[in-house]
Amino acid sequence: MKRYFLLLLIFLISYSTKAQDLTIDPKMYGIIEAVSADRLEADIRTLAGFGTRHTMSDTTSDTRGIGAARRWIKSEFEKISEACGGCLEVREQRTLVEGDPDSRIYEDTWVVNVYAILKGKTHPNNYIIMSGDIDSRASDIRNYTIDAPGANDNASGMAGAIEAARVLSNYEFENSIIFAGLSGEEQGLYGGRHMAEMAKEEGWNIIGVLNNDMIGNIEGVDGVIDNREFRIFSEPYSAQATERELQMKRFYGGENDGISRQLARYIYETTQTYMPEMDPMLIYRLDRFGRGGHHRPFNEAGFPGVRIMEAHENYHRQHQDIRVENGIKYGDVIEGVDFNYARKMTAVNAVALAAMAEAPPKPDEVEIGGAVEPSTTLRWEKSESESVKGYKIYWRPTSAPLWQHSRFVGDVSEFTLEGIVIDNYLFGVSAVGKNGHESVVAYPGGLIRD
Ligand SMILES: [Zn+2]
Repeated sequence: MKRYFLLLLIFLISYSTKAQDLTIDPKMYGIIEAVSADRLEADIRTLAGFGTRHTMSDTTSDTRGIGAARRWIKSEFEKISEACGGCLEVREQRTLVEGDPDSRIYEDTWVVNVYAILKGKTHPNNYIIMSGDIDSRASDIRNYTIDAPGANDNASGMAGAIEAARVLSNYEFENSIIFAGLSGEEQGLYGGRHMAEMAKEEGWNIIGVLNNDMIGNIEGVDGVIDNREFRIFSEPYSAQATERELQMKRFYGGENDGISRQLARYIYETTQTYMPEMDPMLIYRLDRFGRGGHHRPFNEAGFPGVRIMEAHENYHRQHQDIRVENGIKYGDVIEGVDFNYARKMTAVNAVALAAMAEAPPKPDEVEIGGAVEPSTTLRWEKSESESVKGYKIYWRPTSAPLWQHSRFVGDVSEFTLEGIVIDNYLFGVSAVGKNGHESVVAYPGGLIRD
């Protein structure tokens, strides 16, 4: 009897936390193990050691300012590439932002992103992006000379992207991965906007942007200390949804099933699958309350993107001049970073990146039908990709946050779920690869009309 209850409990726990039922790939455990807390510590110390990385700070010194920081990041990517026989394309994106006395960039400034591309062997134009930020700030956003080590905000995310590049450059993937250092975040999300514009111009097919912003602090300003929890922020659906799309949502649902939210659920699930010791929180919100981050400009360009970050923030350590006031230490200094937590967070990213980089393209043109019928039909366009084994239909009750039920239906382009009434569930379709990896779930964008 006892055992029965235990089994029931295990079933209920796994049932309630499962979103997508992914096939286990043993190489993921090697990827997790390869992420090094020591290397992350060294890189975060180096980045904080540039004194300030304010977007408008000095670019000529070799020891201080954002110029020194970005040259160092570039040289790290180049070193990684050398070690893997030139597997990374290391690039800079330089954009001149004209100074505007009323804006946070009040003198002409080159905003420079530094990034490395690990080209996919099957679908090189399909990209997953892991980003951190190069720049930092202190109390006064306009002060570009005062110390702003930005150890957690956001040397932690930047170091995470470099370390993920070190680890994943030892593998080959179906899709491309970009490890990006973005600039101008604190001044108004410039670097992300520039990269999103470039992606649109060059026609990148972005599977997802994993924007890492503060992944090293475990000690909240509220006194909570936790080295397992973290947050995945996602907007509900595109802010660029057309009038017609909004109307579709009103009558058919989908206000909780945008592309970024599906991406967030996917990362939640890769974490649950490969790093059950971690405790991801899906936050169904674009970003923290009223605050911004570099995934937003990608969202605004129509790309799926989420913010990944620690669960417990410490505001005394963010955007603060280094000082002691009333016995409280302020400033984003190295002592506020837990390198082992940054390691786990980097591994969370690496696993999600690797899973998406191995997955076939998600199904296109997914349509749904079944009103006033005791069944639900899904139809989609079959992918031309050779790597697809078949498709999997997901469904869940309308009030459930995660996908709950799934059925692999084979290599078909249409399937009817008998006995499932469309009114009571939400539905989606993923593509499953011959290698067992699975795409992000695609939510229906139209109705079956025949
Ligand atoms: Zn910040």
